Amino acid sequence: MILLDGKLVAQSVKDDLKNRVNDLKLKGQKLPHLAAILVGNNGASETYVASKVKTCEEIGYKSTLIRFEATINEETLLEKIRELNEDPDVDGILVQLPLPKQISEEKVIDTISAEKDVDGFHPVSIGRLVQGLPSFVPATPYGILLLLEYYKIETKGKHAVVIGRSNIVGRPISILLSQNTPTGNCTVTVCHSHTKNIKEICLQGDIIVAALGRPEFLSGEMVREGAIVIDVGITRVEDKTKKSGFKIKGDVKFDEVAPKSSYITPVPGGVGAMTIAALMKNTLQACLNKISK
Ligand code: NAP
Repeated sequence: MILLDGKLVAQSVKDDLKNRVNDLKLKGQKLPHLAAILVGNNGASETYVASKVKTCEEIGYKSTLIRFEATINEETLLEKIRELNEDPDVDGILVQLPLPKQISEEKVIDTISAEKDVDGFHPVSIGRLVQGLPSFVPATPYGILLLLEYYKIETKGKHAVVIGRSNIVGRPISILLSQNTPTGNCTVTVCHSHTKNIKEICLQGDIIVAALGRPEFLSGEMVREGAIVIDVGITRVEDKTKKSGFKIKGDVKFDEVAPKSSYITPVPGGVGAMTIAALMKNTLQACLNKISK
């Protein structure tokens, strides 16, 4: 079994981005600038946004963090996004999800300019991705592809089973794995909450991507010998022995599945670590797209 070390690969992506930022500096060009909007004070969202801002600093990007109270009305948030769309210095805009109930996530995503949609959630980005055109790939699926690429894992002809069909993880990774690309050419089965015989389907998977948000759902008896297992799940589970009061659990029963796998991602330190690195790649791309215009 080989552990797919997200921290290691993310560091190599970040080192590469640092070099590219230095090149931009030497040429006197504009540096990438990410604007992040955080609404309310959800603990997990605070942590994610803080890491994104910290990673920008580490790489040498400019970042702006805009915070709003959880009670903000939708129009105020949309107005801020429109302002950032018009700001020539801002390359990428992200609005940390989930949002409070009074705000439509769909409207928020639609309002972000497709050219600054570094999260890759805008319908234009998804449409381009489906058509195999250059686009901002949502960060988590992009991070998974970067991991597969780094470890030179052959995907061609493999049967990939994706559990979950969300717009941010399951759906895009299932499309990407099926495309005619070096990290694609799989035959893909997508499972969701209405799937019957999920154990039998998983047992047919050469690659399994577990992205359902149910801690330790994928057990050893659901996985064939030699499978490649990608655990996307991040769930906070109460743990009184931890200072924070919780620990992070993935969607895979690691102790049972790891011995049967050829490759597996740990949680934490797997896909989660890659997601921010992928977001940073998208932000550089947004900046370069602007420079080349
Ligand atoms: P989501 O929007 O809640 O989607 C979950 C998907 O799993 C849905 O399609 C749902 O089916 C399916 N599902 C739920 N229970 C199931 C079951 N028992 N059997 C089969 N399918 C089932 O979640 P998400 O945003 O995709 O996130 C999934 C997990 O990944 C979460 O733990 C989240 O925290 C984590 N995540 C991690 C990263 C990272 O950076 N590592 C990034 C994003 C998300 P239906 O469509 O039928 O409801």
